[in-house]
Amino acid sequence: MSEQFLPIVIIGAGFSGVLMAVELRKRNIPFVVIEKSEGIGGTWFENTYPGAGCDVLSTLYSYSFAQKPDWSRRFAPHSEIRAYLEECAERYDIRRHIRLGTEVVGARYVAEARRWDVALSNETEIKARAVVFAVGQLNRPSIPSFRGRERFSGVEFHSARWRHDHDLTGKRVAVVGSGASAIQFLPHVAREAKQVILFQRSPNWIIPKNDRLYHEREKRLRKHVPLLMRLQRAWEYLQLELSFPAFLKDSKKGRKWEEACKAAIASAIKDPVLQDAVTPDYPAGCKRVLLSDDWFPTLARDNVQVVTSSIAEFGPSGLLTDDGVSHPVDVVIYATGFETRQVLAPIPIEGARSLSLQDAWQPHPHAYLGVTVPDFPNAFIMYGPNTNLGHGSIVFMLECQARYIGQAIAKVQDAASRAVAPKRHVTQRFNADTQARLSRTVWGANCSSWYKGADGVIVNNWSSTMLRYWWKLRRFKARDYDQW
Ligand code: NAP
Repeated sequence: MSEQFLPIVIIGAGFSGVLMAVELRKRNIPFVVIEKSEGIGGTWFENTYPGAGCDVLSTLYSYSFAQKPDWSRRFAPHSEIRAYLEECAERYDIRRHIRLGTEVVGARYVAEARRWDVALSNETEIKARAVVFAVGQLNRPSIPSFRGRERFSGVEFHSARWRHDHDLTGKRVAVVGSGASAIQFLPHVAREAKQVILFQRSPNWIIPKNDRLYHEREKRLRKHVPLLMRLQRAWEYLQLELSFPAFLKDSKKGRKWEEACKAAIASAIKDPVLQDAVTPDYPAGCKRVLLSDDWFPTLARDNVQVVTSSIAEFGPSGLLTDDGVSHPVDVVIYATGFETRQVLAPIPIEGARSLSLQDAWQPHPHAYLGVTVPDFPNAFIMYGPNTNLGHGSIVFMLECQARYIGQAIAKVQDAASRAVAPKRHVTQRFNADTQARLSRTVWGANCSSWYKGADGVIVNNWSSTMLRYWWKLRRFKARDYDQW
């Protein structure tokens, strides 16, 4: 193929990858999508644990251009979200461009030819005009290295690799971790298992989700009066957007969340020791504020025990905590989150002058607008550093990015400027501003969370409102970029 007409390689076929593909399709730019899993959906393909679903309203956790009037409930379950993404891939004719079951094992910029060589797991290589990393931030399960883990003779798995072949009925189950995933599956497990022991390191601020099924009437109305659907979406967007100030230090709204959580605890749990154990001691918002209608009632069940002592080690038939108590179990489920500190790892990425992205991102990941990196011409990131949200829908952010990247790629297709990378001083200014704004937020408070790097710097979250992000990305500005 002539070097001028090389395709764009999109890595990942989740929410970001499918969206980017739609954008390039619209612009008539050739592309190929490489996906390591055997199906479309990214995190929604991988996370199949019971109760998996989104804690962002489905009207917002969906593409603005592909609104779905008939979501079954306010917060859709994972199977429905996955089906939605598959439907979008069909509808926008993306599917035939996706190579499933293929992993990108390396990407190298070839400066002389202004192209990317993308190495695949099947030992082939694709030469690309540009590369879009749409790999998400939450796809590499993290399991802590507990002492003696290899001695455990029961079944163990991570929540993102659920073992559906293991019936939990009548089993004694340990759940390690009490974050966003645990609060969704544990209530289901507790209904089947003989006993569930939750090993909780720190409790979360959890407020009522108020989930419910949509009435058929509502679905029909949204289908036949699309304007209503758009109004509903706009109203829900506004409400989320207005909640951003809650993430500023000492906010009133943050205290309201704390009160709502404490009220939910008091109404579901009568035991004061347990009430105390599940009440956080850090400000609401520092970790992701979680939504659930059944978490606290589940913890109050007779067959559920909350253990707050640290896990000291594993033995053949269970876990031992550092207070000397042993906890015999048949199954251990890790709800211990994902490797998030090395964004884009483990793909080795080499930019201009043989600079590796890992080196460029010392001491921590950063990117201009969360999308582009100096010395990495024609490389674009979706859901990159500092683009995660505490208060809104990531799909909104992804749409801003896809549009922006689409504009940039359209420019590099033009013979005059074949490769672009952001100017160093522009990137530095952007990051300094982002970190200055982040220093006013509650995310830096005294809690552990995947929003922060090892040095405490907030590397995952966006610093402001969704609207501000949209404003910054509304137009690709060539003057912010070096031409290569
Ligand atoms: P997570 O929120 O990071 O929670 C991990 C849990 O594991 C925490 O309770 C953590 O305790 C605990 N943990 C980690 N290392 C441990 C150790 N060595 N010993 C004991 N406990 C340990 O992970 P997640 O629940 O998988 O969720 C990750 C992210 O995925 C969420 O923040 C969210 O963005 C996304 N998610 C979203 C949805 C949704 O509905 N949209 C659903 C699921 C997940 P500490 O709190 O003390 O660190």
